[in-house]
Amino acid sequence: MSIDYQGLAVKGVQALSPYQPGKPISELARELGLNPSEIIKLASNENPLGPSEKAVAAVEHALTDLCLYPDGNGFELKQKLSARLGVGADQITLGNGSNDVLEVIARCFAGSDSEVVFSQYAFAVYPLVTQAIGATPVTVPAKDWGHDLDAMAAAVTEHTRLVFVANPNNPTGTVHDADAIEAFLGKIPEDVLVVLDEAYCEYMTGKKDPDGVALLNRFPNLIVCRTFSKAWGLAGLRVGYSLSSPAIADILNRVRQPFNVSSVALAAATAVLDDEDYLQRSRAANAAGLKQLEEAFDQMGLRYIPSSGNFIAVEVGPQAMGVYQALLAHGVIVRPIAGYGMPNHLRVTVGLPAENEHFIDALSKALAAAGQGA
Ligand SMILES: *Cc1c(COP(=O)(O)O)cnc(C)c1O
Repeated sequence: MSIDYQGLAVKGVQALSPYQPGKPISELARELGLNPSEIIKLASNENPLGPSEKAVAAVEHALTDLCLYPDGNGFELKQKLSARLGVGADQITLGNGSNDVLEVIARCFAGSDSEVVFSQYAFAVYPLVTQAIGATPVTVPAKDWGHDLDAMAAAVTEHTRLVFVANPNNPTGTVHDADAIEAFLGKIPEDVLVVLDEAYCEYMTGKKDPDGVALLNRFPNLIVCRTFSKAWGLAGLRVGYSLSSPAIADILNRVRQPFNVSSVALAAATAVLDDEDYLQRSRAANAAGLKQLEEAFDQMGLRYIPSSGNFIAVEVGPQAMGVYQALLAHGVIVRPIAGYGMPNHLRVTVGLPAENEHFIDALSKALAAAGQGA
């Protein structure tokens, strides 16, 4: 008798489809027989500047201790974050990327009898971690591609344990200002945890940008998540963290793996926090690149969703998959987001000026080939 092993998986997991990452450069190089250096990847919201030199030097230094387990408490990194953000070290939970923290939060606070609320078009990891623990996802229809915060607050029931809010959101780039986030938090019962995912907060340029850290004292049910993967340029090392009350952090620390952040990653993240210049350059390059892409889209008559992140969702029409493939043939990797329910859009990460130009050029050719160019 043969056993249906897939049938043995918990129900939520059976219904899962795996996270679809951006296509790696090495894969496209193999497929097209291209030199990897000829390929431009604008698919995973990675930092186009390359890593900070300070981070690289710290990694090299840390290599001598590869035989040792990392500091499971991340003492030095927590001290640095604590001083920088004005929170207690006991409010910080480190993760193997903020993805790790998002998952730990779900496992700690939701179960098979819980509902987890998030928005349509929100970051794909929220439904993933929700289903993996057998909780019920409650997807609230978006408003103008962004979170409908009033509707999300109204979707909270006695079964709701968690609400995920991505601000700015990926893949839409939409953002809510400080007043909107505060008003939203004011409507959520204190026994429902709100996860404010600020993976792109360093890129925000508005006057009334929310700062989750400043809200922690007033909203004890708030968990703020941040990452070193984007503006800090360390996506390959996997370091992120959450900020919360010490009580919540204590719970998260019980469930996270004891050595979830590697020694090399800890060293790099600790060092990069001293590289303020790198952060400023990341921000400046992003602002300039976003403008470059928006102007090109305007000229081409393409609609896009104004973005507060390091990426932008551009509407290329129902043949988006064909456009994506044509871009690949030109050596440009972007991200199709049909999986997010956005089959007419492609998400493009902001690159360096020459990369953006190459992408724009390839996009015009791809659209012309698809018979819908401007
Ligand atoms: C990229 C991203 C993250 C961060 O992922 P890491 O695991 O820290 O690399 C978290 N949330 C959103 C919305 C993101 O786009």
